[in-house]
Amino acid sequence: MTSLGERLADRIRRDGPIGVDMWMSECVAAYYAARDPFGRGGDFVTAPEISQMFGELLGLWTADLVARAGAAAFDLVELGPGRGTLMADMLRALRSAGTPVAGVHLVETSPALRALQANAAPGAVWHDGIDSLPAERPLIVIANEFFDALPIRQQVFADGNWVERRVTLDGDRFAFAPAGDRIRETSPVRDDVMASLAHRIVAQGGAALVIDYGYSGPLEGDTLQALRGHKAVDPLDAPGEADLTAHVDFAALADAAKGTRVSPLATQGAFLTALGIDIRAERLAHGLDAEGRHAVASARRRLVAPQAMGELFKVLAVTHPGWPVPAGFGS
Ligand code: SAH
Repeated sequence: MTSLGERLADRIRRDGPIGVDMWMSECVAAYYAARDPFGRGGDFVTAPEISQMFGELLGLWTADLVARAGAAAFDLVELGPGRGTLMADMLRALRSAGTPVAGVHLVETSPALRALQANAAPGAVWHDGIDSLPAERPLIVIANEFFDALPIRQQVFADGNWVERRVTLDGDRFAFAPAGDRIRETSPVRDDVMASLAHRIVAQGGAALVIDYGYSGPLEGDTLQALRGHKAVDPLDAPGEADLTAHVDFAALADAAKGTRVSPLATQGAFLTALGIDIRAERLAHGLDAEGRHAVASARRRLVAPQAMGELFKVLAVTHPGWPVPAGFGS
């Protein structure tokens, strides 16, 4: 058993079964604390790691929104920046658009990833959470595959009632209890993060852009999943060694974003296409050899094709009600 597994087992023996939310937050914190899980040799690949086009388009999305809002200055915030690739690509695009960024603020708890982010975004300021973000200027907040890492709670339908689903010990193995086929999920932590962001945006101006895999709930089903070496594994196996996530309920996030203007929910494919990924891909491929052109085309396809990331991944923007409607969501 992993050392986190030993600790969680001790806690369960001492205090009884623990909620799925506690299980998830302990596993996610241990998982990210010491490793760089991204890329081919890691456990999973995210959109900014597939192609620079992703971050560049989000940079231009920001430049366009800030220009149309007539904002004199803004702070750029990223939640869970991973390797920092997305921020580096955004900053390059913002520079080429001539859009000055007052400050770059990264919300990240992993020491290992903070070190990587420092190389990608020199001069950035780190935060453990939303509360310490600056309050002087409008905020543009980007969160790609961040909310899926925040803990969920699960309820299971057992003996005619919805009850909390917990992790317990069955001998020396972890197991879910009670048993039951019908499961539903909530995430007070995600709702709180979105409510704080909305509060800031209403007070300061700006917008938050959330990109993640998910659905528009309420929906029944168990979406807790664990990935290790690009393969699905049991979420109760080897705690802290696999990436534990759950699908994001975008309807719940929209509900939590009180006082803001909430965009329609777009698919990642439709959003990136509306922002001009086809033109960007053509430009990038121009002058490359056959292999290079093929790489750009296949990256574009992975980001937008319905059978790849294009439909599973959704995009939601919440904006200060006095700000213009952000690009990418149709008219
Ligand atoms: N946005 C990046 C990485 C996504 S992985 C990309 O697209 O490549 C999730 C990121 O969120 C990691 O950087 C992880 O360390 C961070 N993270 C997870 N839980 C967190 C929490 N509770 N607070 C702050 N950051 C967290």
